[in-house]
Amino acid sequence: MTYLFDPHPVVSVPVVGTAARFPVRRVFCVGRNYRDHALEMGHDPDREPPFFFTKDATTLVTDGGAFPLPRATGEVHHEVELVVALKAGGADVRPEEALSLVCGYAVGIDFTRRALQAEAKKGGRPWDTAKSFDGSGPVSAIVPVEAVGHPAAGAIWLDVAGARRQTGDLSQMIWSVPELIAHLSGLFRLEPGDLIFTGTPAGVGPVAVGETVTCGVEGVGALTVAVV
Ligand code: MN
Repeated sequence: MTYLFDPHPVVSVPVVGTAARFPVRRVFCVGRNYRDHALEMGHDPDREPPFFFTKDATTLVTDGGAFPLPRATGEVHHEVELVVALKAGGADVRPEEALSLVCGYAVGIDFTRRALQAEAKKGGRPWDTAKSFDGSGPVSAIVPVEAVGHPAAGAIWLDVAGARRQTGDLSQMIWSVPELIAHLSGLFRLEPGDLIFTGTPAGVGPVAVGETVTCGVEGVGALTVAVV
């Protein structure tokens, strides 16, 4: 087979303990999965089923990389999140079997153009320009389940320029990882290589050029990106 031009390389993420990388297929994200973040954004955390949006795999940035702050879009906010990496797929997966799809876990940032998101919400428009822009999905190396298990509790945090901005605990997630996989697999057929960003705790805020963002999840690892 020939192509009109060279195809883009497969997007991939390192895996701790092996030279083999995780080839990324789709990137799913859940909104408002921590009570205190739902409240800070002005929503009722008790009355909403989980909802999802996507980022393109090409938006991913690996650990130690640079996040190019987009121009002229107002504030870009950090959202630290636990990321679930899938080694198997399925449709209509039951919560009891959902964890068998998981290959490992990582730390990610769901960078968000907050002003564009507010406009989209107000106008009933899509979120793509607010969520799936270049560099908007930094993600750490994936830690295999064999090493980390399935973390359901543990600190999640983010620092900007050395100052703590976000703190929370995985146990505060409104929808657990098995519940998220079950819901998502009723909307999309999941496949190996899919990533799921599982929502952010409170404390989201803007980043500026020249700042270093460091974040982590207890037991899973840490991630550092430079805002350029
Ligand atoms: Mn998010």
